[in-house]
Amino acid sequence: MIAFVRRIVLAVTALVLLAVPALAAERAPVILVSIDGFRADYALRGLTPTLAGLAAEGAWAPDGMAPSFPVNTFPNHYTLITGLRPDHHGLTDNTVYDAARPGVKFSMGARDQVQDAFWWDGGEPVWVTAEQKGLRAFTMYWPGSEAAIHGVRPSQWFVYDEKDPAFARVDRVLAWLDLPADQRPNFMTLYFEEVDTQGHWTSPNGARLNEALGNVDAALARLVAGLKARGLYDRVNLVVVADHGMAETSPDRVVFLDDLAPIAEVTPVTLGTVSGLIARTPGAEAALVGKHPHVECWRKGELPARFHYGTHDRIPPIICLPETGWVFTSREWYARRPLTGPAGSHGYDPEDPAMRALFVAHGPAFGPGVRLPVFDNVSVYPLLMKLLGLAPRPNDGDPAATAPALR
Ligand code: AMP
Ligand code: ZN
Ligand code: ZN
Repeated sequence: MIAFVRRIVLAVTALVLLAVPALAAERAPVILVSIDGFRADYALRGLTPTLAGLAAEGAWAPDGMAPSFPVNTFPNHYTLITGLRPDHHGLTDNTVYDAARPGVKFSMGARDQVQDAFWWDGGEPVWVTAEQKGLRAFTMYWPGSEAAIHGVRPSQWFVYDEKDPAFARVDRVLAWLDLPADQRPNFMTLYFEEVDTQGHWTSPNGARLNEALGNVDAALARLVAGLKARGLYDRVNLVVVADHGMAETSPDRVVFLDDLAPIAEVTPVTLGTVSGLIARTPGAEAALVGKHPHVECWRKGELPARFHYGTHDRIPPIICLPETGWVFTSREWYARRPLTGPAGSHGYDPEDPAMRALFVAHGPAFGPGVRLPVFDNVSVYPLLMKLLGLAPRPNDGDPAATAPALR
């Protein structure tokens, strides 16, 4: 009898020993970090040693990820976290209108709209599925994290505050990892805007941009040091991404909408780079659609298939895309914010290398020194779901794109 019991105890122990590492690897906490506007090749400047260290020991896409169209912040952050193209998740640009909400404008600064699930319900972010399946998700900023999408918010989330110092954000994430096991999050996000901000102000080649690279890398160094101090560096899966790259603009590269069509007959929804327009007369539409010097315009249903864009009701009837480095604006809009020297912009062709975004991943799930060829950012979502052991919702990504990165 005692021998029988002992055999059962041994068998159970063996099972537990076998199961625990597998479980630990599958459910290692995941930290998703976004460095807004971190163009893929910024990592080659020698200014980001922490990122270089993560890449050396983990997986890296040296040529970056291709962002989704339109190449702006909100659509791409929502693509990263849902695996859906903006045409499918409904955050069709940074500024959005919907016929069901006449006169209401969704924009990044409209806090009440940003917090309204109406705009976000077309997708299901990782944190919603995680919470529904009994995991805990905490967000240290992410577009969408302030809204109760499908009725669910992350267990912890914050109202976005650009002035919140990067180190304070990192320290909050580290404090989460100190929580008792039954309160600790399985999935965390962390977001930094400084590289995008300086890329816009001083161009991707500006001195202040390089300073921003150093500052964000220092924040990552603080995160890595905190993980090491807790013995977690090799037990947390860290996925570091960007939403898009950055291209240099100039006062010498401006195209005016006024020169393409009768301006009084066109209502611009968005302008700058990728632009959405409403032509209020057939004449204005005919004048706009087609190729012009440095800009091309299409009816929404006629965009090139590779943009995966143009079916959603929220997309304006005409979409224009300037050549990389060119600004597309109206005389009225430009008068309010003219360029005075080199600056930076995104919102260009997603296939342009200047629009490509950072991807580095490190942790128990990732093989050392893996290098990935360019892949589409819709494939980050299936990777995150795999790391969390969750079944992905229907999405536009391909798990095969990042499979070589996994152990
Ligand atoms: P973009 O205009 O596409 O370059 O957007 C970048 C800006 O988005 C940054 O300056 C951030 O301050 C802002 N941003 C990032 N996340 C959020 C958020 N959750 N809520 C509001 N604004 C945000
Ligand atoms: Zn951005
Ligand atoms: Zn930006």
